[in-house]
Amino acid sequence: MLTQDSKDVVICECFCRDGLQHEVNTIATRVKVDLINRFSQAGFARIEATSYSNPKVIPQFADASDVLRAIHMHKNVYYKATCPNVRAVERAVADLELNHGANEISFLVSASESHSLKNLKRSRADQWQNIADMTRAGLYKFRIIGTISVAFGCPFEGYVDPAVVLSDVERFYSLGIKHVTLGDTTGMATPKTVRSLYKKMFDIADDIVPIAHFHDTRGTALVNYMAAYEQGVRYFDSAVGGVGGHPAGLKYGGGYTGNACTEDLVNLFESCGINTGIDLTALQEISRLCENILGRQLNSHVAVSGWNSLIGA
Ligand code: ZN
Repeated sequence: MLTQDSKDVVICECFCRDGLQHEVNTIATRVKVDLINRFSQAGFARIEATSYSNPKVIPQFADASDVLRAIHMHKNVYYKATCPNVRAVERAVADLELNHGANEISFLVSASESHSLKNLKRSRADQWQNIADMTRAGLYKFRIIGTISVAFGCPFEGYVDPAVVLSDVERFYSLGIKHVTLGDTTGMATPKTVRSLYKKMFDIADDIVPIAHFHDTRGTALVNYMAAYEQGVRYFDSAVGGVGGHPAGLKYGGGYTGNACTEDLVNLFESCGINTGIDLTALQEISRLCENILGRQLNSHVAVSGWNSLIGA
């Protein structure tokens, strides 16, 4: 576990799940498998590999078990699968027992009632009950990540009370979930709110591991990530080409609520002498490959301009 004074960071590469969730075309299983293998080879210590969501609702992840079975699992890598309900956790457990499962699963709660009803189709109270049930099904089998959406503002309600977010963090912690992600779902966070919320989050418990998952909806993801880093956060989520981050069937922010771009985030950290552990040449190759896979130019400044030549100087 990286502590607040470490100079290293861990970036979770989210292309294959968060990135692909709203892509219209289904990406072939072998393409996902090849990408995940490339991510681990390039040095990513956390990879969001797939989702155990209902294949009827999200067909893109109907191959969840096939992907996990086919990838070459590196022993020091956490492969994450998102789980929306107890059935999903049971599928994750079944795969794990066959020795080809994800070793990390994640549960989602929305910090606002409106976002919870629209995105998760459940009230917050019902979702917390669901999380308690999922935790019972998965605790001690996986590393569990608790994720809080709209933690810095809600597209439907606007202001989100930080006290609600912090009580959600405490609730995850009381269930035994120490890794908790704050999500800036539609790019409403600022460096000021980021610093303030993570400072209070670190005060909840010594062994809490805060994770940052910010979207670049308004071009603020990188500046917010740097604020989180300065506050002691060492775990960050991003996706190659800045793709994804758009909850299925839900449109806001003009339809573009993309993830922070991995190449640009790696470039920023490495330019500051912060070690990401990522092989830059391999990542650049993956970046080109992802553009080929999706058949369009993605939202990566590094893909256009190349790495900062002062990295490592
Ligand atoms: Zn996202």
